[in-house]
Amino acid sequence: MRILVVEDDDLIARGIVAGLRAHGFTADRVSTASQARLACEHTHCDAMVLDLGLPDTDGLELLTRLRAAGNALPILILTARDAVDDRIRGLQAGADDYLVKPFDLGELAARLHALIRRAAGRSLNLFEAGPLRFDSSTGEAWLNGEPVELSRRESTLLASLIQANGRCVSGERLKDCLYGMDEEVESNALNVHIHNLRRKLGPDVIETVRGLGYRFGWVRR
Ligand code: CA
Repeated sequence: MRILVVEDDDLIARGIVAGLRAHGFTADRVSTASQARLACEHTHCDAMVLDLGLPDTDGLELLTRLRAAGNALPILILTARDAVDDRIRGLQAGADDYLVKPFDLGELAARLHALIRRAAGRSLNLFEAGPLRFDSSTGEAWLNGEPVELSRRESTLLASLIQANGRCVSGERLKDCLYGMDEEVESNALNVHIHNLRRKLGPDVIETVRGLGYRFGWVRR
């Protein structure tokens, strides 16, 4: 699950990115609205954390433009404690949730998990399909009731495939979900993670769709 953090304050942004990574997200940070627009056009993200006070365009305007362009990305806005009007205008402009600064990083992660799973039509973090149980908020997995140890990238990959709701996901998009913009990716990295997931959960867990990408292999219960 990849989160785009749009925040111009370096200290706050570093804290958010580190916190999200510690909670199993892939997180990238940009500091202006124009960088955010570019990032939305060129990479896949599962949700955005948006500070409203940005140096170029106001965060509210960015939000309004994204929604006007048909972008349905889950967006959580960050506002100052006394800015009730900003919160209301943000929600009216299409934000899905908000947090008031200063906030707890665990709460931010929990809210993002909720927004992302609701975007996929799921009301619970716990997902069950075939012999698998998977908690998308903690990355924990069980196969036929037995716990299975997954690495952070493996659980992110599994969550991204589950999030696609039975649709095929391209290899490029899966790489975007797994690696931040500043991370070096080896050319066979995705294949290695797919191989490991199949080894741990069974060969059917991921279906290869020739020429198109990959699909989660089991039907949700
Ligand atoms: Ca700011």
